[in-house]
Amino acid sequence: MAITVHLHPGKEKSLRRLHPWVFSGAIARVKGSPKAGETVSIHSAEGDWLGYAAWSPQSQIRARVWSFNQGDTINSAFFANRIAAAKTLRDGLAIASNAYRLVAAEADELPGVTIDKYDNWLVCQLLSTGADYWRDAIVAALREQFPECSIYERSDVDVRQKEGLAPLTQVLYSADGSAPPAHIWINENGLELGVDIQSGHKTGYYLDQRDSRLAVQKYVQGKRVLNAFSYTGGFGLYAAAAGAAEVVNLDVSAPALVQATANHKRNHLSTENLENRQEDVFEALRSFYQNGQRFDVIVLDPPKFVDSKANLVRACRGYKDINRLACMILKPGGTLLTFSCSGLLSGDLFQKVVADAALDAKRPLHIIERLYQGADHPVRTNFPESLYLKGLVLRG
Ligand code: SAH
Repeated sequence: MAITVHLHPGKEKSLRRLHPWVFSGAIARVKGSPKAGETVSIHSAEGDWLGYAAWSPQSQIRARVWSFNQGDTINSAFFANRIAAAKTLRDGLAIASNAYRLVAAEADELPGVTIDKYDNWLVCQLLSTGADYWRDAIVAALREQFPECSIYERSDVDVRQKEGLAPLTQVLYSADGSAPPAHIWINENGLELGVDIQSGHKTGYYLDQRDSRLAVQKYVQGKRVLNAFSYTGGFGLYAAAAGAAEVVNLDVSAPALVQATANHKRNHLSTENLENRQEDVFEALRSFYQNGQRFDVIVLDPPKFVDSKANLVRACRGYKDINRLACMILKPGGTLLTFSCSGLLSGDLFQKVVADAALDAKRPLHIIERLYQGADHPVRTNFPESLYLKGLVLRG
């Protein structure tokens, strides 16, 4: 029998809509003292059963619901079923890559659990106490369902602190106990990219931009392309492969830029017209403007600027700044692909910020295409927060 948690009157509304988070302020009383990650039963003030959830004693999100079905038992088989359902969804998406997000946390009804597949390595991030508690069950399910795969953990993410969990990286399984190779070569839409799952960003690569990298190819033939916030040069590689005349990658990360060159070579693309600049994007865009450097196509794919509601206004200023500068160095008739991966910034507000930026630059633009995270990062209807990545393609 799971320990029971009773909510204050009226605090059950979001759970009835199958939203999986229980905030600490919603909780009236707890019968017993659940350990971190242990399964509890959530009940309304009236005593109605609402869901089975993982207990997070230190987090503002005090419990995350695993299941809204009272007939479920939260055990190893439950995790195996959830992972199998996530796999079935991806198997039906015709993803043009051997690298994809297999489990996308709440969007796959597994709060705190992210699993990315890079060829025959699975990389897990277990970011909540519940996810951490069920590590062995998750690994057992992955070994069963992906017998050809090795498994690595990249739980070196700041949000674990909010759960009272230390950062952690480790090999969870490999047939001969060996560490991951320095680079796993993935094939994405016919292009090969090297991914360092041990020390690359996130789990190694930004899988969520796969479709948008393909979209850039429509706009680049014979063009001079600036790929700002390039990481390992994904957008630049796709642009070069589609016949761009020149590609400039811009990022603060030196190893990412080294990988960008290696990726070009691996795909037999000339590096003659490839320039990698290790610079701050804000400063680089300003100096491009001052030096009269202009581009036909600009990709702006910054990191998440908004990490809390409190810094939304400040973050909007950042988005406006880079978009204004991009408009100023965009050639007439050029194309700007601009993105935000901040879940807390709505698509509407992002569009307004970009519109303000264009206005300030005296460069009103047409929106000619809208882009989103790939379908392997699905948006779950009862968890709208799972839509976080949005992009606008604008024509000058
Ligand atoms: N477009 C990439 C993903 C970009 S992620 C892709 O398709 O794979 C954001 C990148 O911005 C990271 O590589 C990070 O190193 C870089 N970055 C963050 N702040 C920066 C800054 N101020 N100037 C330049 N690069 C920055």
